[in-house]
Amino acid sequence: MHASFEEKIKSPRGISPEIWFTECYQRHRGHPLLILASLYKGYYHKFLLAVFFFFIKHSPVWILPIVTASIINDVVSGDENLVRHLMVSGCLMVALLLLNIPTNYAYTAFKSQATRYAETGLRKALIRKLQELSISYHIDTQSGRLQSKIMRDVEAVETLSTQMFLSILNIALNIGVALVVTVQKSMVVFFFFLVTTPIAAGTMWFFRNVMKKRNSEFRKEMEETSARVMEMVEMIPVTRAHALEDEEVEKMSGQLFAVAEKGYKLDLVQTLFGSVGWVIFQIFQVLCLCFTGYLAYRKYIAAGDITLYQSYFATIVNQVSAIISLVPTIAKGVESVHSIGEVLLSDDVERNEGKLQVEDVRGGFSFDCVHFRYHDAEQDVLNGLDLEVRPGETIALVGESGAGKSTILNLVVGFYRATAGKVLLDGQDMNDLDLRSYRRFLAVVPQTSILFSGSIRDNIIYGQEHVSDEKLWQVIDAANLRELIESMPQGLDTQVGEHGGKLSGGQRQRVSIARALIRDPRVIVLDEATSALDSVSEKLIQEAIENLCRGRTTFIVAHRLSTIRNADRIAVISEGALEEIGTYKELMEMKGAFYHLKMLQS
Ligand code: ADP
Repeated sequence: MHASFEEKIKSPRGISPEIWFTECYQRHRGHPLLILASLYKGYYHKFLLAVFFFFIKHSPVWILPIVTASIINDVVSGDENLVRHLMVSGCLMVALLLLNIPTNYAYTAFKSQATRYAETGLRKALIRKLQELSISYHIDTQSGRLQSKIMRDVEAVETLSTQMFLSILNIALNIGVALVVTVQKSMVVFFFFLVTTPIAAGTMWFFRNVMKKRNSEFRKEMEETSARVMEMVEMIPVTRAHALEDEEVEKMSGQLFAVAEKGYKLDLVQTLFGSVGWVIFQIFQVLCLCFTGYLAYRKYIAAGDITLYQSYFATIVNQVSAIISLVPTIAKGVESVHSIGEVLLSDDVERNEGKLQVEDVRGGFSFDCVHFRYHDAEQDVLNGLDLEVRPGETIALVGESGAGKSTILNLVVGFYRATAGKVLLDGQDMNDLDLRSYRRFLAVVPQTSILFSGSIRDNIIYGQEHVSDEKLWQVIDAANLRELIESMPQGLDTQVGEHGGKLSGGQRQRVSIARALIRDPRVIVLDEATSALDSVSEKLIQEAIENLCRGRTTFIVAHRLSTIRNADRIAVISEGALEEIGTYKELMEMKGAFYHLKMLQS
């Protein structure tokens, strides 16, 4: 089903929609309507077909008044062919009405193919862009805002296109047909329409608008109430513990009555404005009736045409006021086009094109007088860091919080680039490398293990396609997970729950280590979790870490004594520079910064 629908909604020139959509944004930067039009390129014919079917589906609305008028006229004039006429008209109308079902279906199918294509394409373009944007962009941007762009803004753009194209088309067709028929039949009535329509539509819009405003005020009050209810429910344990039940009920009751009063007032206002609007509309109808009745009396028009003009007048007035009420939807949609553009046009991306492909990594790093400053910060976080790491070496980074250890890890991953100085990988400046090709040789174990909802197996083999069972179990053994997995009834297929919520902290860390191991990386970046663990978990994790690091260049931000002891060398980082480096034994004997740090902790 997915595949066949994907086949159906292809973008022009055969390129994938996400690339095409980003191009549309770039080409028409700052012109939302042009952007919107270009999104549908290659799909205009679907819209035309939709229009065609719309025209047929909708035709009874225009034809019915003509047929009614002509029947009345025949009745009035005592036409002898009346019965035949009635039968032909009746059959024609029934046929036309029945045609509504398939044509309505076809109209929706074509329209929906175009709009769903644009919707999916935009979402895909946004998702690809999010994967390309730099990590600093993601740190600076709230994920909720990005999510709302992908879901809400795209939906608003879809609504905008549907409205822009189809509602306006619908309105234009309705008004157009009614006016054309009127002009042909009677210029006097046409001028009557021309004068009265704006007044009638304007007043109706005015009253509708007032009601809408009141509605939104009431909605806000309701939202406030539901927020209060939520808060009350969350507070229940505290309320009960303090025996404040009655006070809470009183407080809520006050809010509920306040809403009820607002609702009552709203009902009254609504009914008042509703009936005023309705009465005005009907008065104009009566006006039209009297006017056309008079014209018929004076024989300017046929008697039956009174009903025709009556229904056309109603159509025109309703459609014009519909146009006015479209304005907010259009404004919202245009705003959403801009909002999506903020992401699609951002150039805060990692540029890898044309850079050196990394075919093999030995794992030697050298930091050569590296400075680094976060883009909105006033001071450097790294201040001339010099550090040589040999291939296969495990280096523990220690130092006070805020010293710059995580920043060093981010430079190793390539999320950030040195502001000054160089980071060399096997003698090559990392600025010259295609970082994606380098990262095939890298594994990261973050401080808080990030698992996704799925099975343990899915979480371990994340991103690796062909993993033999033999290799999988080797990794599981190395990560000390066998016992855990075998104790679970569904074994490897056990679901870990959202964010791995069904596993303990220590278990999540080991799954995270297994995920790193299965990549068989050359370089490992490990930010040790600070959370205290019981001694059994501690031991299991320590063994897993040792298995992970063996023979691979490893950077660890270390908190555990066992990790620090086992590291080949320890680098003490202070204020963004290297203060001391050496083995555990050497540093302890030196009685320098590391020794003092240790003394403080023990
Ligand atoms: P450590 O890992 O040693 O605790 P970090 O490398 O995380 O230290 O941080 C070093 C300094 O950089 C801290 O003062 C921190 O506030 C600052 N910092 C970290 N991340 C950012 C960021 N994204 N933007 C601005 N400043 C940051």
